[in-house]
Amino acid sequence: MKSVFVVGAGPAGLFAAQKIALAGHEVFLFNRDIKPGGLAEYGIYPVKTAMKTGLRKQFSKVLSLPNLHYFGNVKIGSAYDVTLDDLKALAPSAVVVTCGAQGYNKLNLSGENAKGVYSAKDFVYNYNQLPPYASADFSTGRRIAVVGMGNVAADIMRWLLQDSPTRRTEEVIVVARRGPYEAKFSKKELGHLEAHQDFAEFFLELERVRARCVSCGQDVSVEKIAEATFPGLRKDNVIPTLPKLTFRFLSSPKEIIVGPDGRIRQLVVTENDLVLRADGSTGAKATDETSILDVDTLIFAIGDKHDPGLGLPMGPDGYATKPSVESNSEPVYEMWDPQTGKPIDGTFVAGWARRASTGLVGIARHDGENAAGEVIEYLKTVPEKASLHAFEVEALLLSKGLYPVNKSDLLALAQVEEREARERNLVSFKHSDNGAMLYAIAQVRAAAANRALAALQPSVASEAWATESLELVSTGD
Ligand SMILES: Cc1cc2nc3c(=O)[nH]c(=O)nc-3n(C[C@H](O)[C@H](O)[C@H](O)COP(=O)(O)OP(=O)(O)OC[C@H]3O[C@@H](n4cnc5c(N)ncnc54)[C@H](O)[C@@H]3O)c2cc1C
Repeated sequence: MKSVFVVGAGPAGLFAAQKIALAGHEVFLFNRDIKPGGLAEYGIYPVKTAMKTGLRKQFSKVLSLPNLHYFGNVKIGSAYDVTLDDLKALAPSAVVVTCGAQGYNKLNLSGENAKGVYSAKDFVYNYNQLPPYASADFSTGRRIAVVGMGNVAADIMRWLLQDSPTRRTEEVIVVARRGPYEAKFSKKELGHLEAHQDFAEFFLELERVRARCVSCGQDVSVEKIAEATFPGLRKDNVIPTLPKLTFRFLSSPKEIIVGPDGRIRQLVVTENDLVLRADGSTGAKATDETSILDVDTLIFAIGDKHDPGLGLPMGPDGYATKPSVESNSEPVYEMWDPQTGKPIDGTFVAGWARRASTGLVGIARHDGENAAGEVIEYLKTVPEKASLHAFEVEALLLSKGLYPVNKSDLLALAQVEEREARERNLVSFKHSDNGAMLYAIAQVRAAAANRALAALQPSVASEAWATESLELVSTGD
């Protein structure tokens, strides 16, 4: 039996951990968040309750494995609580990094820090109640520009148009650097938005960009675009449900104009030409022309990046893995040090940490399990040694002043949240800050300790209780 450390408890980490634990090894799972699940818990759209509940059940099953130990509320990295070297000093036989892609591409414009300007990831974390984003200001206004045409942007539009309890939305304007053919929404996600789409304005927008698209050989007829990317165009004379959804194609953010209240007031966009590349794909080429959009909120969904704070060597696509031979498209899970030109022995990477933004939960699971397969093979090559105990790992974390959350704490927290939901008459209740979660856990731990104390030393415990009661009476509390 060998000890394996897994960093990150999203789908990739949990399913990798499960496979390694089922192969008989001792697994220690470290997670930044108190709760497991990663983007499955804090990214997937809140009203997809059946999917979220199903995934939570699968994650609980993984965590119920006796040789799998969980340490939540622990951020690993050279810039954070515990470094990878600290972990490696405990001499695990292998380390698997599955911390996702926590960074994001920025617009790199002045005014990006103005009120009302948010990255998609932070915004999604806010409405999915991930601390500390859950309690920060992500207020939205009436006219909102959403930059990007992928499924994350679609989720955000859905929230702004339909589900945000605090929405004041009158119009969501999708700002896209290329044209209608380059939209990457899945039909299902776009289907949630179609009722809001102002098709009259969409046809005018197609006319506005027609010549630029035609210059690249694109057919800007309604039938062809409906076939390729916007099936809703097939419907006749649909009156949009308010608030409305409009599109601004061939436009890239150029300048954020901030009002005296510190909030975005306007977005200046550059008009782009569409250019055809040698491989047949299209690109956007900025022109000298600009336009101004009056907006009070800007949310940009232009891709995820890996967090350099982990302290791992970075490659062209994120954390470095061994450069693959050109003819071989097999994924590479073993990490690589570009400086020495050698693999980092016993260190693997999987899920969005290996390739940012690649696919749905099922794909992350598959990637985690594939990596686990390689880890299990690798473990056959390393010498046997006594496996670590959870208390040794906990001692390291406590020595760093951390409050690690374990599996029984998670069960206690789930019970507290279920009780809160019942008392508030809600379908579910989710704490939105770490302090409240840790406090709830501490209360359950204290109650259990008191019960144990009372059982072991009835006279001492009841004496303490009597003294406390007396004090309460005398202070009038
Ligand atoms: C907005 C949005 C909506 C989505 N909707 C869907 C959907 O509807 N259906 C679907 O199937 N898929 C959806 N996905 C995709 C799905 O969420 C991902 O495929 C999947 O979560 C990726 O899994 P992962 O484990 O690689 O990374 P993540 O889920 O990102 O998990 C990373 C884990 O690492 C932890 N971590 C991060 N940094 C550190 C650190 N320094 N130290 C320790 N731990 C750390 C995090 O706490 C987290 O637990 C969505 C994604 C997004 C962004």
